[in-house]
Amino acid sequence: SRGSAPVPPARQPRLTVLSGPSGVGKSTVVAHLRKVHPEIWLSVSATTRRPRPGERHGVQYFFVEDEEFDKLIANGELLEWAEFAGNRYGTPRKAVLDRLEAGEPVLLEIDLQGARQVRESMSDANLVFLAPPSWEELVRRLTGRGTEAPEVIDRRLEAARIELAAEKEFDVTLVNTSVEDVSRELLALMLRRPEDRTTG
Ligand code: 5GP
Repeated sequence: SRGSAPVPPARQPRLTVLSGPSGVGKSTVVAHLRKVHPEIWLSVSATTRRPRPGERHGVQYFFVEDEEFDKLIANGELLEWAEFAGNRYGTPRKAVLDRLEAGEPVLLEIDLQGARQVRESMSDANLVFLAPPSWEELVRRLTGRGTEAPEVIDRRLEAARIELAAEKEFDVTLVNTSVEDVSRELLALMLRRPEDRTTG
């Protein structure tokens, strides 16, 4: 049968990128999603940062040495990577592409520099910006996190002001009013077929 059978539409890759200012609560949203929907596959990044208490290799991150991270870059094994607060973070390329190829939704939780790289290399990715409910709330989260010196806090707030302006580069904004609501909205975006997408 030549020429007559309709060609099935190619499975569109569904890559969703969750990004936003530092301190806005991206990892809390992803942790919640992981708990409520353990069946959903989440990309696990490589990082040179040391594990925090409770973090496990292969779950929150692949914790690697600097030399190993250098090799991942050199071998083209990272879809994107960025330096953040003195450590490097990157998305392993193969696992993501394999999932997309299989038609499964993929979620990346990455910083703004990484989101911009994904925008460049994968034009049909859905970029989701997680915004704080208000500037005051973001200030509260950034300052209330610990025991940082005032200069450190000032630097973070300045960075946050710049990061908030990146919202206009994104396809969708979710406001982080509650972890439950945002997780639900994020999942709905992930499961939406690309052809259902409008501009916002
Ligand atoms: P944390 O050290 O708090 O886990 O993460 C610090 C920042 O690195 C967060 O903004 C997080 O989104 C970002 N991040 C985590 N994994 C990646 C990654 O693979 N690539 C990029 N570009 N950023 C990442």
